[in-house]
Amino acid sequence: MTESIADTITPGAVLVINAGSSSLKYQLVDPASAQVYANGLAERIGEPVGSSITHMVGNRERILEVALPDHRTAIAEVVELFRADGIHLADAGLTAVGHRLVHGGTEFHSPIVIDDAVIATIERLSPLAPLHNPPTLRGVEAVSELLPDVPAVGIFDTAFFYDLPAAAATYAIDTEVAAEYGIRRYGFHGTSHQYVSRCAARFLGRRNDEVNQIVLHLGNGASASAIRGGRPVDTSMGLTPLEGLVMGTRVGDIDPGIAFHLARVGGMSVDDVDRIYNKHGGLKGLCGENDFRAILERIDAGDAAAKLAYDVYVHRLRHYLGAYMIDLGRVDAVVFTAGVGENAAAVRADALAGLENFGIVLDSERNVERSRVSRRISTDDSPIAVLVVPTNEELAIAQQAAEVVLTS
Ligand code: ADP
Repeated sequence: MTESIADTITPGAVLVINAGSSSLKYQLVDPASAQVYANGLAERIGEPVGSSITHMVGNRERILEVALPDHRTAIAEVVELFRADGIHLADAGLTAVGHRLVHGGTEFHSPIVIDDAVIATIERLSPLAPLHNPPTLRGVEAVSELLPDVPAVGIFDTAFFYDLPAAAATYAIDTEVAAEYGIRRYGFHGTSHQYVSRCAARFLGRRNDEVNQIVLHLGNGASASAIRGGRPVDTSMGLTPLEGLVMGTRVGDIDPGIAFHLARVGGMSVDDVDRIYNKHGGLKGLCGENDFRAILERIDAGDAAAKLAYDVYVHRLRHYLGAYMIDLGRVDAVVFTAGVGENAAAVRADALAGLENFGIVLDSERNVERSRVSRRISTDDSPIAVLVVPTNEELAIAQQAAEVVLTS
């Protein structure tokens, strides 16, 4: 007889929730052992047709095609899927539900147990992240209704960067306008940058507070950070996750005047420009494709648009690398993470090509080895270590949520 997850689950597990506007990712994980009991994705929430939940237990996948008019229904269906596996989430001894929250403004510096006051503050911050904060709050409310006795903890994507030095956090914009509208650089992907930088220090066998590193989180969204002794001193994303590196569908850094040009000359609305910047920019805007694997295949087949998209991507990446090397002065490690950073050896090689005089010497054989654990891809005598460190945002959220509950 096969063992069900209900038999393996230990008290203390954390349910991690990552709610987007029309999707909701979840994972039930043990924060101590990192064991994932189950995970899944509810898609097309609020859409009239085609909604579904993909529920994974080990490598057993179940796809439930079901109407999901709102987040509450999605969570209720997820709770039912667990029940079918013999797990009653409400009384499974969960330590916490950890919610990924995008924008904590300047208010939230660390994980926090979510109560009515916290919800009110996040609502107040919604204008800073109109696409992200409202759906995550709907996820929080739905889970709290269905699992009222499990503490809900909010982990903010911005929190790690809350004390960026003023020179890095400040835009050169009218200070009164900035103050009135909360305009400054907040940074995102903080959970990943923090988790990966700690893993990198541990991998090097050094204390986190003595390592200077540049973390390159290259997924569909992409961001870079410069971290001195465990604290970020700069990061590439700003008021929104649109700034910085070239991303899957986001433009990253761009002349702000382009928006005026498109409005004045092209007659475009704010929504039109938003779509061009957020949904149809980056790699997708340049070559119609945001899946990096497909881009690499097209380059191999001689596709010029894919090659230009790749070259623009790498060019921007090298700019940030150079800037952050100067910011930090002394760099101990350059760390690649997320889908592209962990898997695309070509990007790592091209981003670091010719930097031997700056202390970065890649080992080309190590670079192409495939592995799912942290590894060094520089030569042993490279003054700056180059590492690939797999990110695990769900585990980081679960660990932080458990820590808050167990220590409060
Ligand atoms: P996100 O969590 O931001 O959606 P991921 O960290 O999962 O993104 O990264 C997704 C990106 O990683 C995609 O562009 C995908 O093509 C790319 N990727 C995944 N595996 C590989 C691979 N083996 N080689 C190159 N790119 C890859």
